[in-house]
Amino acid sequence: MSVNVSAYHSLMQKVDACNARLVAVSKTKPKEDIMTLYELGHRDFGENRVAELVEKHNALPKDIRWHFIGHLQRNKVREIAPFIHLIHAVDSLRLLREINKRAAENDRIIPALLQFHIAEEESKYGFDPQQATAFFNELANTPAPSVALVGVMGMATYTDNEEQVVGEFKLLSDTFSSLKSAHFSQEDSFREISMGMSGDYPLALAQGSTLVRVGSLLFGDR
Ligand SMILES: *Cc1c(COP(=O)(O)O)cnc(C)c1O
Repeated sequence: MSVNVSAYHSLMQKVDACNARLVAVSKTKPKEDIMTLYELGHRDFGENRVAELVEKHNALPKDIRWHFIGHLQRNKVREIAPFIHLIHAVDSLRLLREINKRAAENDRIIPALLQFHIAEEESKYGFDPQQATAFFNELANTPAPSVALVGVMGMATYTDNEEQVVGEFKLLSDTFSSLKSAHFSQEDSFREISMGMSGDYPLALAQGSTLVRVGSLLFGDR
């Protein structure tokens, strides 16, 4: 039994106390581990590889809400479009357009988060907060009605320096607030801030996270 059930219960208490939700990140872990939490009532699970996600989706109960949490290649969107609950990391307009196309083909509106690059580390993925205006200008010209943008997502630098991590989460939460007032003030559905992992979720919750993505704390090291 490799799932840490007592860690799950204490994590859920903290997440509930902040009115946030937990995405249990089950990537690389067997279906039995997912079922352990499923039987405790958990329904939100996160994966970052399309082939693995599709296989698990096919095999496991259909009321699981699957979250795609990592970088998503455009040519893989088609495979998850029929069932994905939330795509966490839209990092380009081209990816958003592809999700829009595949959502429409499936008669769905797919919820998605915009990924922002908040960490000090170099990363290929995520918008810089200053790029958001250009993104929304382009989106206003050619809307993507089959994608529902419901919030933002980011990953902090992997460091022991708590002050730095707090500053990065604050940047994401400020980015959320300015997008909210500039583009989504009438839309209650724009309300998610996906931030916080095993090593930094308490700091993320304190900065207003609504979705923490926690894997190794629940399922052990990968
Ligand atoms: C793997 C992963 C997580 C979970 O990381 P842990 O440190 O195991 O909690 C969260 N978010 C993303 C984007 C990931 O790829």
